[in-house]
Amino acid sequence: MDKTNDDKPSDGSRRQFIGYGAAMAGLAIAPGVTLFDLAHGRAPEEAASNKVRWGMLIDTGKCASGCNDCVSACGKENGFSGSRETDSQWIRKVEIKDLRNGQSHSLPMMCQHCEHPPCVDVCPTGASFKRADGIVLVDRHICIGCRYCMMACPYKARSFVHEELHDQNPDVPRGKGCVESCTLCVHRVDKGGQPACAEACSEAGHNAILFGDLNDQNSEISKRVTKLATTQVRADLGLNVGIRYQGI
Ligand code: SF4
Ligand code: SF4
Repeated sequence: MDKTNDDKPSDGSRRQFIGYGAAMAGLAIAPGVTLFDLAHGRAPEEAASNKVRWGMLIDTGKCASGCNDCVSACGKENGFSGSRETDSQWIRKVEIKDLRNGQSHSLPMMCQHCEHPPCVDVCPTGASFKRADGIVLVDRHICIGCRYCMMACPYKARSFVHEELHDQNPDVPRGKGCVESCTLCVHRVDKGGQPACAEACSEAGHNAILFGDLNDQNSEISKRVTKLATTQVRADLGLNVGIRYQGI
């Protein structure tokens, strides 16, 4: 169990991603508590900064067994239905049972946005890369579909696009022959918003997914990670992931 708050800056990004300016208002869940941090929208010419480390804290005590709202929201936002066996899967619900006490937990799993991502290490073309703010992405223009990254990912977080895609969200370009995984809804984050899964969870009244800046000591996520016992899945691998869990 890892209770530390990582405030180490990420490596420099290999590619600057264009963002947008206007920051959206935060969604208040209690006086003084917001589900995500305000005013992180970036100007279009501004590069992602290693002063920020985007992450999530998932409270498994609030994640409802049988609820799939985060999975549906991800598919809707990013252009896959999950109806075909070969569809991409960026987030999945996992049910786990503690054999020592019989307690069950329901939790979402997605790309863990590793600080030291094995998917980036093995990519022969540089398509798999990490932004300065910790978000791990695939540049589809130079991905050759070799799938080394899929084999290297310990969380089985990546999918290969097998079929031609239609009706895509213009903010989330995807294509046949490329590997892809959770982008932390970077197109929303760069506009000051939060990932679609976190928004859907909150709209369903569960508030199990807290998105925010792990580097900002005043952010709600940072305070909780500092104060509470949180877990990095497979912390033994030393990847220092951006997705943290509470209650397991
Ligand atoms: S979870 Fe897998 S795909 Fe995501 S950054 Fe880590 S190794 Fe890469
Ligand atoms: S499938 Fe694409 S992103 Fe993955 S290792 Fe190969 S070139 Fe890199």
